Amino acid sequence: MVITMQPGCPKGDVAKVISVLRKAGLEPRIISPDPQVVLGVVEEISPAEAERLGKEVSGLSGVDEITNFEKSWKLVSKSFKPETTQVQLGSMTVGGPEVMVAAGPCAVESRENFLETAGLLNQAGAGALRGGAFKPRTSPYSFRGMGEEGLKIMAEAREITGLPIVTEVLTASEVELVARYADVLQIGTRNMQNFALLEAVGETDRPVLLKRGMMASIKELLLSAEYIVARGNWQVMLCERGIRTFETETRNTLDLSAVPLLKQYTHLPVVVDPSHAAGKRELVPALALAAVAAGADGILVEVHPTPEKALSDGRQSLRPEQFSNMMADLRKVAGAVGRRLREIPA
Ligand code: PEP
Ligand code: MN
Repeated sequence: MVITMQPGCPKGDVAKVISVLRKAGLEPRIISPDPQVVLGVVEEISPAEAERLGKEVSGLSGVDEITNFEKSWKLVSKSFKPETTQVQLGSMTVGGPEVMVAAGPCAVESRENFLETAGLLNQAGAGALRGGAFKPRTSPYSFRGMGEEGLKIMAEAREITGLPIVTEVLTASEVELVARYADVLQIGTRNMQNFALLEAVGETDRPVLLKRGMMASIKELLLSAEYIVARGNWQVMLCERGIRTFETETRNTLDLSAVPLLKQYTHLPVVVDPSHAAGKRELVPALALAAVAAGADGILVEVHPTPEKALSDGRQSLRPEQFSNMMADLRKVAGAVGRRLREIPA
């Protein structure tokens, strides 16, 4: 329920509406303040109760209009907040004119390897470093990451390069540990509907990168984001990383239409991961360029110095020189759509 007050109505009128709603057990939130106050009620209520409350509230002085949220997601919707949420990552702002490129190997494999890669990526203009320390693997026998040791290596790479780090957290009980080191908590595709985990990251003050479930609809993605925001953490970035379709020539099918659709539905910034979508490194640059052209606020991409030796996702990892070339092209596309990439450090 969205309650729009008359422009410039007395504060007492707003207070009265709030008190009526609170008496009904609801907690109205201020969508927009003066001069035209708009209140949002996000809790679900029965149709009968909604009708009763609607009648009562519409009779109060100062109330201009009562409508419903357009869709089932509320706090993350454009109607709740028309302007794009800006996520602050060190000196970078995601959701503004700059397109964030977070790059790195699928998993942190060793200190030397990660630090060397981080240096190369920084020189090529990456805006953040990615790497997994806790890896969700399809097979329990695959490399599952270095754990806390991997987090420490990423923190060291941040010290050296100044770049923020993005890393996945797998369970609610590990959120505190990962948040101690990470700048961005990544929720992987397999965990998009792990609601306990979503609520746990929602209680931190760390930005969250929420990946779309491989078989999740856009609506389900937005409702998962709603879980995080409802807990008080508004620093959420959504990530399209490909969905499962009948096509097997690619690992997943990049749903590029998700980018403009999400931009239409939500104020949260949108990131695209072309690596897990394509599964093949030769396809990755084209998908990244298309994503920026379509309006993505960021790219999450896997890069490995020697992909054939990678312990996970080598086939889709770019070589460092491919990454540099892609960055040069991304700069042109970003410029063409009124965006920019971080400057290459001198
Ligand atoms: C990853 O980013 O390495 C990863 C595991 O991604 P996804 O959850 O999209 O498969
Ligand atoms: Mn990966």
